[in-house]
Amino acid sequence: MTWRTIRTDRDTAMSDHRRFPGRRLLLTCTQCGWTKGYALERVIDRLRELRADGHRTPIAQVARQARACPRCHKTSWQADFAWPAGTTDGEIKRLANLYRN
Ligand SMILES: [Zn+2]
Repeated sequence: MTWRTIRTDRDTAMSDHRRFPGRRLLLTCTQCGWTKGYALERVIDRLRELRADGHRTPIAQVARQARACPRCHKTSWQADFAWPAGTTDGEIKRLANLYRN
C-alpha cells in the first residue's frame, strides 16, 4: 500500500485527531524501507499497556517503542501520520465535518 504522508512536528501527540481525521500511524523502517500503517486507536491502547501516556504521547516517542522490523530485524523507525493513498480530499473533508459535529 502507498500512503499520503502528513507533515507533522515530532512533538505532535497521538490524540490530535481533529486536525487529521481518518489518519493512521505509518511506521517506516529506516534500514530496509518496510512500512506498515496502524489505526491510531490501537496504537494508543498499546501505549497504555506499556504505561506510556497514550493520547499525549508524541509521535517521535512512538517510533522508539516499536518492535523490531519483521524484514530486517533492526529497530530503527520513522513514524509519520498518513492517509492510505486512496483517500480523497473529499473524504478527508467529510471526516473533518464528522468530528466537528
Ligand atoms: Zn527493516
